[in-house]
Amino acid sequence: MSEITREKLHAYLDDALTDAETAQIEQALRNSDPLRRALRQAMQERDRGDHSLGAVWRRERLTCPTREQLGSYLLQVLDDAQQEYVDFHLKTVACPFCLANLADLQTLQKEPAPKAKERRRRFFQSSAGFLGVARDARK
Ligand SMILES: [Zn+2]
Repeated sequence: MSEITREKLHAYLDDALTDAETAQIEQALRNSDPLRRALRQAMQERDRGDHSLGAVWRRERLTCPTREQLGSYLLQVLDDAQQEYVDFHLKTVACPFCLANLADLQTLQKEPAPKAKERRRRFFQSSAGFLGVARDARK
């Protein structure tokens, strides 16, 4: 008999197990006080639900779009199904990891690379002049 992990209890609560596995868990629950406690705990975790970072992480991290997909999403170049999926992931699931990633990408897109570079160059020249270390800038 395989060990009943917390993940398996969550899968049980999600109704995502085979009949045999479900029966096995229900059997084990009848016989094990610690397991019943573990199940209660799992249910409490689920009640705290979407707002618990840990729960979101456990549930959603395997379904997170990649950073490339998020970038494509911002540019709206994904196909409809993918676009919808990412939309759901961000707006309904409100995955904190992808939202952070998205915010980061948005900042990057708002500031096109050449422009940022140009500003840095000007800043460097003025501060180099100001500091009297223009030696390197002459090259
Ligand atoms: Zn995500």
